Amino acid sequence: TFISFEGPDGAGKTSALNTITAQIQPLLGDRLTITREPGGNPISESIRAIILDRANTAMDYRTEALLYAAARRQHLAQTILPALAADKLVLCDRYVDSSVAYQGAGRQIGEAAVARMNEFATDGLLPDLTIYFDVPAAVGLKRIQAHRDPNKVDRLDVEQETFHDRVRAAYLRLQAAHPERIKLIDATQEPDQVVAQALVLIKQTAQR
Ligand code: C5P
Ligand code: MG
Repeated sequence: TFISFEGPDGAGKTSALNTITAQIQPLLGDRLTITREPGGNPISESIRAIILDRANTAMDYRTEALLYAAARRQHLAQTILPALAADKLVLCDRYVDSSVAYQGAGRQIGEAAVARMNEFATDGLLPDLTIYFDVPAAVGLKRIQAHRDPNKVDRLDVEQETFHDRVRAAYLRLQAAHPERIKLIDATQEPDQVVAQALVLIKQTAQR
């Protein structure tokens, strides 16, 4: 079972994933694979470092989209597919929807073009379930400014509210277009509620 976690910056996706891991790891042991992208293996981590290097301000947006897709491909081939073949539950922090939202809509390359490029990269493999943590851009940004590690890299306009509005709008369009796969959780709720709702969805999907 393959489950991805999606959402704009400041949605609390990563901390929810940490809490969920702590709760289900004791039950599943090595039947559980927790991973994140871009990264998860040496090649993808190297690509991630290029993308996130503050010095690479000249990076073209399509170059960035291609690098994300390349890192995703390697992560899929090296981590996700072997885990699925071994019948594990794979929880992945970000997947193709991030590229459609961030590169397609945020960077304005075009959602359809980025989706097509990622279809090539993934050979069309989509998660069984995508949990989308939804927050308004202003709320997410406020949380980031309050909590974010100042050393964490954000490229160029990534911190601007208009960028985040576009990212969120794209996520909402994706959810509306794929309601069976993508389930929305209101991430402005208390963290406990968010985690409880995510766990229900994960259990339903893992039992299918
Ligand atoms: O998942 P996390 O919040 O750690 O993402 C790290 C950063 O990478 C985010 O700030 C996000 O804006 C950016 N990102 C991106 N395009 C993606 C995935 C992440 O711009 N496809
Ligand atoms: Mg995060």
